[in-house]
Amino acid sequence: MMTDDIIHKGSRDAGRANMPDYRQEATTFSWTEARALLDGLADGKLNIAHECVDRHLSRDSGSKVALRFVHKNDSITDITYNDLSILTNRFANVLLSLGLVTGERVYSLLGRKPELYIVSLGSLKAGMVFSPLFSAFGPEPVLSRLEIGAARVLVTTNALYKRKVAPIRDRLPQLEHVLLIDSKKEGDGLLSFESEMQHASTEFNVVATDPEDTALLHFTSGTTGRPKGAIHVHEAVVAHCYTGRVALDLKPDDNYWCTADPGWVTGTSYGIIAPLANGVTMVVDEAEFDIERWYRILESQRVSVWYTAPTAIRMLMAAGTEAASKRDLSNIRFMASVGEPLNPEAVLWSADTFGKPFHDNWWQTETGGIMIANFASMDVKPGSMGMPLPGIVASIVERDNGDVSHVTKPMGIGELVLKTPWPSMMRGYLNEEQRYKKCFSDGWYLTGDLAMRDSDGYYWFVGRSDDVIKSAGHLIGPFEVESALIEHAAVSEAAVIGLPDELAGEVAKAYVALNPGFEPSEGLQLDIRGHARKRLGPAVAPREIIFRKKLPKTRSGKIMRRLLKAREMGLPEGDISTLETDEK
Ligand code: ATP
Ligand code: MG
Repeated sequence: MMTDDIIHKGSRDAGRANMPDYRQEATTFSWTEARALLDGLADGKLNIAHECVDRHLSRDSGSKVALRFVHKNDSITDITYNDLSILTNRFANVLLSLGLVTGERVYSLLGRKPELYIVSLGSLKAGMVFSPLFSAFGPEPVLSRLEIGAARVLVTTNALYKRKVAPIRDRLPQLEHVLLIDSKKEGDGLLSFESEMQHASTEFNVVATDPEDTALLHFTSGTTGRPKGAIHVHEAVVAHCYTGRVALDLKPDDNYWCTADPGWVTGTSYGIIAPLANGVTMVVDEAEFDIERWYRILESQRVSVWYTAPTAIRMLMAAGTEAASKRDLSNIRFMASVGEPLNPEAVLWSADTFGKPFHDNWWQTETGGIMIANFASMDVKPGSMGMPLPGIVASIVERDNGDVSHVTKPMGIGELVLKTPWPSMMRGYLNEEQRYKKCFSDGWYLTGDLAMRDSDGYYWFVGRSDDVIKSAGHLIGPFEVESALIEHAAVSEAAVIGLPDELAGEVAKAYVALNPGFEPSEGLQLDIRGHARKRLGPAVAPREIIFRKKLPKTRSGKIMRRLLKAREMGLPEGDISTLETDEK
């Protein structure tokens, strides 16, 4: 949705950004130059773990804190780059001692604990493929993901094992080794992570993987259907490192906090790889979202770059500005958001509350890294996801069977597509060749998202192609309607879906959650509808508004509109393995 409020960046902001001039950099950029930000290994080999950990040791950064864990009780554990190097060496040796060979898959089912970072980077060091699972998954989602990846090794905790893995273990004949991080006992198919680590050597020579060797297996969020296992290779680190540098503006002195769980791609690409490749200190909060706690961490850890998601930002917004104003947040230099469209209201709120805006950026599990972003040096148009990264060519197209035609008219709606290839582009969906092939046409990767581009080159998210509403000849993006709804003082979150209608084809229906201090009532319903009609016009405004305490979301915080729609229409709910909050 367009607003007239542009947040201008002065020459001071631009001057201190890693990328002071976007247009210039976009013209001269090459991925070969981005590759030069990394060490690489002899003979053109490349290993993510080397770039994230070991290469910093030779630059006198070994004693620098790589990971700072804020435990649930607020105590702190620091792991330096030196420590991380030794710990990942040990874990790489553990994997070899278990008889694993290059390319086999190591899974984690862990909260944001030190072991998770040791396991991910140690596996990559040993040339294995790492796949993180979200610790809040139930047994079925755990089973299906372990099964499709033919997991050989799983690292988890006692409690998670008992609840989620033990009941399904006999259905996983390939799963040979389960390491428990909080148990000393061994036997019955279980190993103690601690004892294995103790017995392992601290010396290890990183495996010289080919840039095209598989490194990561990431499952998509499951917002639109059955999650897909996207395959990424070591070469992806070129994009991780570069995008961390220009889209998150990461600098070596930063205290960087990515709030995403590594169970999702954001938590790995930007919660492990990009920050460590850029040599920053990363803050990791082991606890779950809590408004007071988050502000406390921002202050006490002197967070300078903060990467989070719209669902959290909307919750902070709903709680008002007081909690923020009590804290000294002056260390924050750059704030970014990903995962869902960031409503203009939220951008303006953040600029008011923090003195600087959240910078929305767009990408997918499949793209492996940030593709479109609001950069530190660039004016922010609230509601826009920004411009393509240097090195990325984006376009808006209309598809007619196999053919794509480019939409050149400013603000014309079409599918967002990206020119192939780029380093972090997925190399496949595991065991789903057909589904993978369907994502490409004519040298373009088809994102499945609809967007528009304005005359300045800014991109605007319209909606997922499955979610867009076709009403009386209009194409309505749920994002636009939701953003208008949350402008209303009573509304904290909104989800808009299209329902079949004899006359209009489809009509919009909205589900809204209210801010504290507001109660559902008919009067409020009318008032919100009135506001929507005024903002959007009667053709686009939702016909019906339903109050909900919570909206159904994936565990990565994305609103599952398809579920609301399926329920509304009495259709099967489909794959809900990633569903978090729910209320029918
Ligand atoms: P699935 O593919 O399984 O349905 P998913 O698409 O939600 O799940 P992810 O890869 O985690 O899985 O999410 C990528 C999608 O999230 C994008 O295609 C887009 O729809 C949405 N998204 C991410 N960032 C943004 C953003 N800044 N603005 C708008 N949408 C975004
Ligand atoms: Mg998707």
